[in-house]
Amino acid sequence: MRSKLVAGNWKMHGSLTENEALLGALLKGLAAGPVSASLCAVCVPFPYLSQVQALLRSSRVEWGAQDVSEHAKGAYTGEVSVAMLKDFGCRYAIVGHSERRMLHGEDDGLVRRKMMAVRGQGLTAIVCVGETLAQREAGQTESVVGAQLDALAADGGVGALGRSVLAYEPVWAIGTGKTATPEQAQAVHAFMRRRIAMQDDGVAAGLRILYGGSVKAGNAADLFAMPDIDGALVGGASLDANEFLTICRAAAALQ
Ligand code: PEP
Repeated sequence: MRSKLVAGNWKMHGSLTENEALLGALLKGLAAGPVSASLCAVCVPFPYLSQVQALLRSSRVEWGAQDVSEHAKGAYTGEVSVAMLKDFGCRYAIVGHSERRMLHGEDDGLVRRKMMAVRGQGLTAIVCVGETLAQREAGQTESVVGAQLDALAADGGVGALGRSVLAYEPVWAIGTGKTATPEQAQAVHAFMRRRIAMQDDGVAAGLRILYGGSVKAGNAADLFAMPDIDGALVGGASLDANEFLTICRAAAALQ
């Protein structure tokens, strides 16, 4: 059975003071149990990695970044390498988030190279795919998500994919309050697993596929009950300790 993962994506939110309060409340809540090791993680803005490492290093919560460079080092002003994330104890790096794809023009090839770079240093990429509202309404969800997955798996990428975590994030559900129904999400997750199985059955069976898009305390349990939903990538609700804790507990209940 695949273990669940609930990863928070703080996006460009937080301050030293707010982070300390948020993580303090999260750790206090987790101490009351019952959430197992490695079930929850937070992906934070780069400047706060040092603070988050100090606050979480002796806890059961893991941490990571929201993006990373495809390059190892060099003249790439403003970029942050995987090795730098490793220096700060990161376990995860999100790659291919729809906000990076849309606002920063990141394409499937770049997302794949970032995934490979993350894997190359032994970290775990959380690789996001998903369709826009227009694509869903045009009946293109499977062709869009299928093409994104094929690009990730190309040129031997399926091995790196097998050591990554996938996140299905329908763009129309991110930060909008519109969640995919558990059935809608399950249908796409099952499709994704079938698509990867065309390349490698073993990778497909073991691959954790998170759902992301307005996951909240109130809808997490129903989503997690679906057989191909292995956890969540949580934006807004990860900024509220009680909401995030409730989502983590809903996942823990199904471990
Ligand atoms: C996200 O940022 O990846 C996300 C899913 O955001 P939200 O939960 O706020 O929709």
